[in-house]
Amino acid sequence: MARILVAEHAGACYGVERALDITRRTLDNADGTVCTLGPLIHNPLVVEELEARGARVVDAPEGVEPGATLVMRTHGVPPSVESRAREAGALVVDATCPYVKKVHAHAERLARAGYQVVVVGETGHPEVEGTVGHVLDALVIGSADEARSAAVGRRVGLVVQTTLARSVLHEVVDVLLDRCEELCVVDTICKATRDRQLAARELAGHVDVMVVVGGRNSANTTHLFQICEDECPRTFYVESASELRREWFCKASVVGVTAGASTPAAHIESVVGEIDSLCDACEP
Ligand code: SF4
Repeated sequence: MARILVAEHAGACYGVERALDITRRTLDNADGTVCTLGPLIHNPLVVEELEARGARVVDAPEGVEPGATLVMRTHGVPPSVESRAREAGALVVDATCPYVKKVHAHAERLARAGYQVVVVGETGHPEVEGTVGHVLDALVIGSADEARSAAVGRRVGLVVQTTLARSVLHEVVDVLLDRCEELCVVDTICKATRDRQLAARELAGHVDVMVVVGGRNSANTTHLFQICEDECPRTFYVESASELRREWFCKASVVGVTAGASTPAAHIESVVGEIDSLCDACEP
């Protein structure tokens, strides 16, 4: 019988729990339609649950009818998007994670202090887009290679996508230190992300098989998967328990489980339960 260990820090973080709570309360109390601007979090199963309760996902603020409620998700949005929502007649409910709001505030402060603002993160990620929208002409750098070719000036101020892998920040900083005269780094990687990455690395180094649970469109879950795969070659990425395969666990004595910051506790529990039954079925 394999032992199943869940990482010390795994699953839904403060910001996601808070956004879900805000959205569920809004759905309970709002008079008219409730929409979210994009999927509330990067977890298709949670988005389906909210849709079943009446939430509608819209791609742009203009997609809501006047008087409808529009929930801004954890990743945050540029100020211009919020203004467009109000102009479209929406009632705006802000579920942006307070830690993401801090990234916006740091970026604005760096810009006011005359730094060229660089957001270290993935181009096109909604949180990065939201941060970029808070300052003029911010650059996005996602890797050491991009840092080598980016058009950086003499004084650069860095903020970081909250869910970025720490190793990427280190690589980018290493390159920029040689390219700028002054580099001001505000490490805005969220503690929830850091804790999950450290706990995942620690656990993955001591197990035979590692399972990472979360939406495939979730950046932080993808980073967890990469970290675990470095430590444990038998690492698998699933969105739900139904994707688990019995053959993954054959001859495994210890199975580790971790989950991204957008994965509710109930999903982790169902994955652990399913691994347990599959491991039982593997017994000779
Ligand atoms: S990972 Fe951190 S910054 Fe992102 S939503 Fe969760 S608590 Fe907020």
